[in-house]
Amino acid sequence: MSQSDARSSDVSCVSCRTSKVQFECPLCEADICSKCVMRPPQGSFFYRSDTPAELKHPHYCQSCFAEEVETAVSQYEETLALAKEVFVFFTTQKKEIPLVRKSKELLMVQEQEDRDVTILKLAYMASERGFNAIISTDVQCVKVRNEGYQHSVWSGKAYAAEVKGDRLERYGFE
Ligand SMILES: [Zn+2]
Ligand SMILES: [Zn+2]
Repeated sequence: MSQSDARSSDVSCVSCRTSKVQFECPLCEADICSKCVMRPPQGSFFYRSDTPAELKHPHYCQSCFAEEVETAVSQYEETLALAKEVFVFFTTQKKEIPLVRKSKELLMVQEQEDRDVTILKLAYMASERGFNAIISTDVQCVKVRNEGYQHSVWSGKAYAAEVKGDRLERYGFE
C-alpha cells in the first residue's frame, strides 16, 4: 500500500487509535498522531561525528523510539558529559603531560562553525574511544568569502590519549 492510500483510507494512530494522524514513523512507517509522536531531545547527537541515518529523524513512533533511539540518546548524553571533562593539550603544550597511553589514530573534524564546537567534537571522539584526553590538538580557522559575506570555517585534529588526571591537578594544569 502506498503512503497516500494509507492516509486516505481509515488511518489510525498506531498507539492510541485516533484518526488524527499527523506523522509517519520513518523507520516502520506506522501512522502516529501528534500526542503519541516521540522526538529525540533537541540537539541530540550534535557532537557525535558518525551518527547513523536512522538516528537523525526528527520524530518516531513509540516502539521505534524505545527500541532504536532511547538507548542511543542516553549513551550520547553520557559520552558528552565525559567529553566535557576531557583534558585538552594543544600542539603548543610545553609542560610534560603525564601520559599513560596514546592512540595512533588521528582524530579529525572539518567544516565547523566555531572553535569550541571543533574541540568538543574531538573530545567526544576521544571519550567514545575510552580516553580522557586529547593531545597534539591543532585547531585551524580559515576565512571563507562567499558572495561578499565572510565567515570562518574551523577544522581540528588531535590524538586521543589517557593521562593521569590526578597528577595533572598537582602539576598545575587546570
Ligand atoms: Zn496517538
Ligand atoms: Zn516506528
